[in-house]
Amino acid sequence: MISKPEEAKVSVYDRGFLYGDSVFETIRTYAGEPFALDEHLARLERSAARVAITPPLPRVDFALEIRRAIRAARNPESYVRVMITRGTGPMGLDTGLAEQALRVVLVEPLQSLPATVYRDGVSVITFKTRRAADEVAQGAKVSNYLTSMMALKEARAAGAHEALILDGSGDVLEGTTSNVFIVEGATLSTPPEEAGILVGITRAHVLETAHELGVAVKIERLPLDRVRRADEVFITSTLREIVPVIQVDAQPIGGHVPGRTTHAIHAAFRRKVGLAAEPLPWEQIRD
Ligand code: PMP
Repeated sequence: MISKPEEAKVSVYDRGFLYGDSVFETIRTYAGEPFALDEHLARLERSAARVAITPPLPRVDFALEIRRAIRAARNPESYVRVMITRGTGPMGLDTGLAEQALRVVLVEPLQSLPATVYRDGVSVITFKTRRAADEVAQGAKVSNYLTSMMALKEARAAGAHEALILDGSGDVLEGTTSNVFIVEGATLSTPPEEAGILVGITRAHVLETAHELGVAVKIERLPLDRVRRADEVFITSTLREIVPVIQVDAQPIGGHVPGRTTHAIHAAFRRKVGLAAEPLPWEQIRD
């Protein structure tokens, strides 16, 4: 059933609402086509399996539904949020109380970041509260984003674009809704899945792109002081693509200027998503 978002209803007994008992994906379109839809649905299934939620329908059928919802929304480009909750049922933690998994596909117009963000880069802070490993949710996109929300609140209060989240030993894990990369000399590094990150779809494409460009890649833990001393830092996410970071806390990165490797990887990524003919975000501005 397709309805207007403001008319769609979910029960107050839905376990996603009661307990955050749900998993989700954020997808975006390019020229109306959902990018990496199959990879997103595969991750959604992995997330659901991690918390023992049975997907309500096969992946191919879900993909068709999502495409139908995107077409019905008629946006130039869409932000698509796909959710699966365990469903409704009487209160109680017993997962057996849920009747039937519920799926929601929310399609909204995509709000792109201003081109200046890509041209000039952004500053980030490190969130002071450390994030402990969550072995239940490890690698799953489950609907508990409170740490990310508090971190982003701290970032916004400091006038920063994003917050880096650290683990108990002070290593950088990821952003609030992004993965983190650093460039040291000719080498690109990003933390491993085992560190307790969400393995981003954009991250995977960036790693593949780096490989194609002949950039050496290391998957390893990133102590904060290494990030602060890196030649380049950037963050990646479905909605933001690749955003150069030019300051971490008070520390300037790359002399406050986005780096060449960051730009080269972003340019190659844009070719991959079929935007080669369009000006790159950092080229759209003419001073
Ligand atoms: N980490 C977290 C915590 C996120 O929420 C996201 C956004 N989904 C990412 C990383 C980046 O993942 P992706 O590239 O798949 O959007």
